[in-house]
Amino acid sequence: MESDPQAERKEDIMLPGICTSCGAQIVYHHHLTSIPYFSDTLIVSMTCLECGYREHDAQCLSTRSPSRYILHVKGTAELMCRVVRSTAARIIIPELGVQIDPGPACEGFISNGEGVLTRVDKVLDTVLQRDDNTEEIVARIHERKQMIRDILDGKKEMTLILEDPHGTSTIDGPDVIIEELDENHDEK
Ligand SMILES: [Zn+2]
Repeated sequence: MESDPQAERKEDIMLPGICTSCGAQIVYHHHLTSIPYFSDTLIVSMTCLECGYREHDAQCLSTRSPSRYILHVKGTAELMCRVVRSTAARIIIPELGVQIDPGPACEGFISNGEGVLTRVDKVLDTVLQRDDNTEEIVARIHERKQMIRDILDGKKEMTLILEDPHGTSTIDGPDVIIEELDENHDEK
């Protein structure tokens, strides 16, 4: 709801908390972003000075039901669609064989299709750096990195799927398909 008085507060809110990794006293930063014609998004982040553990999450405040968002990227225009991924969400790009599951190490973020691909590319770079990669794995990674470049150039298509059981993630765009994640069909 746009009229929610809480949505008008734009300053950062700091709340004390406990590091989920080592138990030290830390401070959580809560930052509300209000983007015109887009749901308010809460960014929560913390860095533990004791152990270096970090958390970063982004949550849409307006979506509620468990949803699957499907964006068919046919060119560079769709790559500009806004993507909010909370840490509870799974990202799937079938064409790239990519599935990013929610987990303790994952980050929530506000980005767009291009930003998601850049993140996937960075993960591939990290995998490339392992010394136990076989030649076959290295070849496959380079193949996927090339595919990412082609999609970014608008030469290849992809499907971006975002599944969020908590309903706090979203993809915003005119051609985005939204499906209910569970069997219960609530009112739309
Ligand atoms: Zn810690």
